Parts: sequence; C-alpha cells; structure tokens
Amino acid sequence: QAPVITVDGPSGAGKGTLCMRLAETLGWHLLDSGAIYRVLALAAIHHDVDTASEDALVPLAANLDVQFIAEGELVKVILEGEDVSGALRTEQVGNQASKVAALPRVREALLRRQRAFVGEPGLIADGRDMGTVVFPQAEAKIFLDASAEERARRRQHQLQGKGVNVTFDRLLSEIQERDDRDRNRAVAPLRPASDALVLDSTSLSIDEVIAQALAFIES
Ligand code: C5P
Repeated sequence: QAPVITVDGPSGAGKGTLCMRLAETLGWHLLDSGAIYRVLALAAIHHDVDTASEDALVPLAANLDVQFIAEGELVKVILEGEDVSGALRTEQVGNQASKVAALPRVREALLRRQRAFVGEPGLIADGRDMGTVVFPQAEAKIFLDASAEERARRRQHQLQGKGVNVTFDRLLSEIQERDDRDRNRAVAPLRPASDALVLDSTSLSIDEVIAQALAFIES
C-alpha cells in the first residue's frame, strides 16, 4: 500500500495551499476530499434532492458521476460531463456540503471513493477526517488550524482578489457556523488525530507552514 500523509483542519486554515505544495514537492497524488462533499451538494441542488434527506442522498453519493482531472497545479472537476470547478467554490455550496457531510450514511457511501485515490508513489489527503477515519494508518498526520478571525480575513482577501466584496462580519459568522457544524456532528467530528502534529497558522506565513510540515514529515 502506497504511503499517505493526511492534512485536516477547519475551512480557511490553508490546507489547500499546503497540500498542493506538498504534493508538488514530493511528486505525490492529491485528494481534496472537501471537493467530493461539495460535488455531492451541487449534484443534490441540480437534481432537486433535499440536502437534509439522508435516504435520498445516499444513492446520489454512491452513484456520483464525477471525475477529477489534474491540469498542472489545478484540478478540474467534471460532474455529469459538466465542468463545475468554479461553481464548487461558492460559500453556498460549502455550506450545503457541510450539511450533507453531517449525515453518517452519506459519509459511509463516500469512503471507498476517497480511499481509491491511494496510489504510488504516495497520497496527500486534505480534509476533516483524513487522519481520524479515512486513513487512520497514515504515515504522517498534520492538523492545520488558525483563529476564525484570521481565516475570515484570508477569505475576504481572496474574494477581494476576485472582485467580490463581502463584509468581514458576514464571512466570520459563516465560518463560525460551518466550524460549529463540523466540530459538533455525531460522526467524524473535526478534531486532530491523537498522533497528529497540530500546527497553528494564525501568525505563520505559508512558507513557514510548509517548512514546518516538511520538517515533521521528514523527521
Ligand atoms: O474543505 P471544504 O471547505 O471544501 O469542505 C466542505 C465541507 O465538506 C466542510 O465544511 C465539511 O463539512 C465537509 N468535509 C467533511 N470531511 C472531509 C472534507 C470535507 O466533512 N473530509
């Protein structure tokens, strides 16, 4: 079995950037598990499936027609033949994703799909429960955290770069709402694995986070 490195943490802590850089540096595959939950939320919206109905979501999750196509640094996501890479990243889809992700049988239905990403020479797995549930045997586990205020600031900066203006307070309350749901759900709640390195990126640059993560992986 090829090695796995897991990176878990709340939204906006910088996991995406860290994982991309680790995958690049090591030449390993990358699993963005959040994108799978987002794709499911989007499929539910497209097919008018109630995101609170576990019975309706389980077959949708089990039969998701999705492809992840690596294009240089980026990953193109194709849902039922349509490029949904842009549509996936909205706050609305993120919020719906965290609702479908709270349903135990939905998580179960997506397990195999996530584990299928493992392959030589190795996998960097980005998510909430990579180290605790999906890959408990991983070689190295990192939990990347940051204060909610710092994560809201980063998100605002990112959105401003795209010409989107959202108030700091609104972003902060959305982040806190999603955190609460991810941390307090009954199944696979967001928490560091007991053997994870916990990194707080609140006052670290991306380069410092990457350096600390690499030092840990190589230790
Ligand atoms: O990481 P991202 O913001 O794309 O994830 C969207 C949502 O999917 C999260 O808020 C979380 O509820 C859910 N998720 C999860 N387990 C994962 C990855 C994401 O529950 N491994």
